Amino acid sequence: MFRNIGGKIKGLAKVIFIISVIVWAISALVAAIGAGVATAESCGSYRHSSGAAGFFAGLGIFILVAGVGFLVSWIGSFFMYGLGQLIEDTEINRRTNQQILAKLSAAPAAPACKAEPAAPVVPAEPAKPKTWICRSCGTENEENSLFCFNCGTRKA
Ligand SMILES: [Zn+2]
Repeated sequence: MFRNIGGKIKGLAKVIFIISVIVWAISALVAAIGAGVATAESCGSYRHSSGAAGFFAGLGIFILVAGVGFLVSWIGSFFMYGLGQLIEDTEINRRTNQQILAKLSAAPAAPACKAEPAAPVVPAEPAKPKTWICRSCGTENEENSLFCFNCGTRKA
């Protein structure tokens, strides 16, 4: 119910903006008809083109009221939409920080400021006695032996 509050606020801001524009448009239409009729009536007594005058008066009022209404609705929606965006971004930051922290704690604690040794220190293998392989039977013999201890073949 309270998840993704930022997205909900943004959606609500859009809905309010659309409703506001519609309400302003209806108001503009009503005002335009009123102005048009009034103009037509006042001009009617001494002009033949009273219908056209009424139409253009109405159109002017409509553009004015609808334009102002659109601007008011649009600018008014900035704050709510901006709040939603802010909450959304904060939520994303929070999640990203959690992921970074999780990764940092999972990784082996590496000293951040200490330079890594140029080459990893390989533990030296215990000194292994050198051997030779008998060419006849393949037995591994000690280095200092002259003959294979298995078959007696002389070291090559
Ligand atoms: Zn041998």
